[in-house]
Amino acid sequence: MNCPVMKKCGGCQLLNMTYEEQLSFKQASVIKLLGKFHHVDEIIGMDNPYHYRNKVQAAFSLDRNKNIISGVYQSSTHRVVNVDNCLLENEDADRINVTVRKLLKSFKLTPFNEDTGKGFLRHSLIKKGFKSGEIMVVLVSGTVVFPKKRQFVNALVEKHPEITTVVWNINDKRTSLVLGKRNETLYGSGKIEEELCGFRFRISPSAFYQINPVQTEVLYNKALEFASLTGKETVIDAYCGTGTIGIIASENAGRVIGVELNSDAVRDARENAKNNNVNNIKFIKADAGRFMLEMAKNNERADVVIMDPPRAGSDRAFLSSVVSLSPEKIVYISCNPETQQRDLFFLVKNGYKVRKIQPVDMFPHTKHVETVVLMTKK
Ligand code: SAH
Repeated sequence: MNCPVMKKCGGCQLLNMTYEEQLSFKQASVIKLLGKFHHVDEIIGMDNPYHYRNKVQAAFSLDRNKNIISGVYQSSTHRVVNVDNCLLENEDADRINVTVRKLLKSFKLTPFNEDTGKGFLRHSLIKKGFKSGEIMVVLVSGTVVFPKKRQFVNALVEKHPEITTVVWNINDKRTSLVLGKRNETLYGSGKIEEELCGFRFRISPSAFYQINPVQTEVLYNKALEFASLTGKETVIDAYCGTGTIGIIASENAGRVIGVELNSDAVRDARENAKNNNVNNIKFIKADAGRFMLEMAKNNERADVVIMDPPRAGSDRAFLSSVVSLSPEKIVYISCNPETQQRDLFFLVKNGYKVRKIQPVDMFPHTKHVETVVLMTKK
C-alpha cells in the first residue's frame, strides 16, 4: 500500500510490508519476547485492516504559502504534515477535517500558532461510534473566544449531518497535551455512545476508549474466554478505563470491582454500569497498585484479576499485591509485550504459570501489537 506522507508522518512503520508479512513479523516479535513462557497462538488479524481508527486527532497549521493544513506532526517535530486521507483513520473524520479547514478560511479564522500565541484552532479531535454511527467533533482552540461559534457550528453540521455532537475545548496553555480543561458543548449532548459486545458505552472527549472497535471485540472475547467465568467469581478489572471489560464480564461473574486512576473515566464507568442495568459492579478511583495493596492488607480475596495497564506496564506494588491476593487466574492484556515480559517474569517467579498467549492485531500497519495472556496458580 502507498501513502503519500508515509515517510514524513512515520505513524505506519510497517506499510512497506504486505499485511500477511506484517502479521508474521508481529507473531515473531511476540514469540521472541514471550515464547519462553509458553507456546504463542497465531495472531488474529483483521479482514479489512484499513480505516479502523475510531478516534482521529489532527493538528492545524499554515503551510509555506499560508494555506490552512491539518494532520499529524512530522515525527519528532512540531511541523504539521497535511493529511487528506489516512489509511488508518475513519474516512468520515478525514472528510470533516477538510471541511473544518475550509470553514476556518471562510470565517476568517486561522490556526493557532504555538510560538506567537496568535490564531484560533489548535486541534480537532473526532470520535466515531462505528456501530452506533454517532460522531463527536471536538474543536480545540488556543484562545478563550470563538468568534461566530453558532454560525460556524451550523455550517459544519449542515455540511456533515452525520455529526451528532460538537464540543468546544479551550487549551490556552503551553503544553503538548491536545485537550485543555474547559469544555463547552455547542451542539448535541457532548458525548457519543457506542455498542460493544452487546453493551452500550458512552465516550466522552477525554476518557480512554479502545481505538479499534472491530478488534476490541476480538480482544475482549479472548480475555473472557481465558477467564472462563462461571457466575460466582469475584473479578477485579484493573486499569479499567470506562469499565468496558468489567461490565461485559459482569454477566458471568458474582461481582466485579473496577479500578482506574482517571476521574473522567471512572465517572463514565459508573454511568455505563447504570445505563446497562449492571448492579454487581463497583468502580474505585485509585492507583491500581495502591488499591491492590489495600485489598491484600485487608485480607480480601479475588478469584480472577483482569489487568490492562498502559504501555509502561504494571508496578511492583500492584504485582506483589496480586501475588498475596492469590487469585486462581490472572488475565493480562498488554499493548506492550516488552513491559509485559518483565511483569510475567515476576509473576512466574512468584507462583504463577503462563497457560495461554494470544496476540491480536489492534494496530495494523504500525509496529504495535496487543497480547492477552492467561496465567493460573502453579
Ligand atoms: N481496560 C480499559 C482501559 C485500558 S487503557 C479498556 O480496555 O478500555 C489503561 C487505563 O489505565 C487508562 O484508562 C488509564 O487512565 C489507566 N491507568 C493508568 N495508570 C493507572 C494507575 N496507576 N492506576 C489505575 N489506572 C491507571
